[in-house]
Amino acid sequence: MYNPKSTTATEFISDSEIRSTMEYARANSCNRSLIDGIMAKAAEAKGLSHREAALLLECNDPEVTERIFSLANEIKHRFYGNRIVMFAPLYLSNYCVNGCVYCPYHAKNKTIHRKKLTQEEIRAEVIALQDMGHKRLALEAGEHPLKNPIEYILESINTIYSIKHKNGAIRRVNVNIAATTVENYRRLRDAGIGTYILFQETYNKENYEALHPTGPKSDYAWHTEAMDRAMQGGIDDVGIGVLFGLETYRYDFVGLLMHAEHLEATYGVGPHTISVPRLCKADDVDTADFKNAVPDDIFYKIVAIIRIAVPYTGMIISTRESQKSRERLLEIGISQISGGSRTSVGGYVSEELPDENSAQFDIADHRSLDEVVGWLLDLDHIPSFCTACYREGRTGDRFMTLLKNGQISNCCLPNALITLKEYIRDYASPATREKGEAMIRRLLNDVPNERVREKTTEYLSKIDNGERDFRF
Ligand code: SAM
Repeated sequence: MYNPKSTTATEFISDSEIRSTMEYARANSCNRSLIDGIMAKAAEAKGLSHREAALLLECNDPEVTERIFSLANEIKHRFYGNRIVMFAPLYLSNYCVNGCVYCPYHAKNKTIHRKKLTQEEIRAEVIALQDMGHKRLALEAGEHPLKNPIEYILESINTIYSIKHKNGAIRRVNVNIAATTVENYRRLRDAGIGTYILFQETYNKENYEALHPTGPKSDYAWHTEAMDRAMQGGIDDVGIGVLFGLETYRYDFVGLLMHAEHLEATYGVGPHTISVPRLCKADDVDTADFKNAVPDDIFYKIVAIIRIAVPYTGMIISTRESQKSRERLLEIGISQISGGSRTSVGGYVSEELPDENSAQFDIADHRSLDEVVGWLLDLDHIPSFCTACYREGRTGDRFMTLLKNGQISNCCLPNALITLKEYIRDYASPATREKGEAMIRRLLNDVPNERVREKTTEYLSKIDNGERDFRF
């Protein structure tokens, strides 16, 4: 029985509701009056239900698809402006007890080079990341109760926050580790994490169980109910996602939106972010073995419809996607990207030898952070290193309220300009610096509130004089 407010996985992600939604979408895919009604509702930027979104995805009319793309672009600008939040993943350990067939960390893989960073090695990685200009990290680790217990993760978070190298600082640590207990989520919250991220991989229980044959992750309910436990443990900001390519995109698209609806219905606040990774080639993993690869055109449509279905949710894309694909995705909804990423354990300090591969997957965008920042500026996006909201306690529904009230231009825009200024003073190449300064001069005038604009101007000149870490 489908019940978005239930905390039982098979009730808030109901297989029969997903199947009947897919059937409804197929049956109505040419029903123009229904589709026009949904597009009119979408234009009000108050979101769509999973049924409405599924119908848009199923409609093949090119004119409707164009309208979806342009509305996604408009909604993104309305709520997020042209800011793009920057982050980098930090892989702590690839020891893992699970058997996920698509992930090279799986316990039976004998060819991957296993590594776990010591606190000293974490220091070195973080200094390398700070020297690139990063302020926000996503911690990644395999699931291994003995090698990577929660105490190791907590100690690592502590180490990361404690490192102040030159003008560098990691100000927000998001965490992507395996599903855990309410008590452990409480400890992560107390350690000051930003978002707790966990990808569902697939919402199809039967397929999930086949893809995760062994280990704690094979328990579908434990994994699917993880965000409920995280919320019960006091984590306000959770990030969901599926790994596209494992299951049919239609099924997981509906499941993803149902998960967002469940969080909103049960806790009054939807997911802080949605990630849309696509399966990549990796050590021991051949994408040809997976039959559900999502072609680019459909993938772009999925992203655009998520954007209009959940207008207030940040959307993340990693370096799994190429420069070309990221360029398109930024136009239609993505608000957060990684740059200069390494997916190997210890990869920021040293390049790996070919026979020492510890990476989780092959990345498609190999550019440095400075190249990514310069490229964003060329495309008229503001690369933002802002971490202010969660440091000011604007998490969960408090963050959503800011967004819904359209206060981004008086808060997020100045914060983006201030943190971009820090980046260009401390880390940028001369060419990127020049483009960044020009953008800051131009966009300062877009801050509507006069007092905020004056304060921003003051902060910018203080940064020129060597001070750091201002925020609204
Ligand atoms: N171990 C944690 C867990 O169980 O969720 C999460 C960390 S894992 C480092 C992060 C994510 O990488 C996984 O949730 C999965 O979606 C993704 N991933 C695994 N194998 C991948 C592949 N071959 N291509 C792309 N992404 C992959």
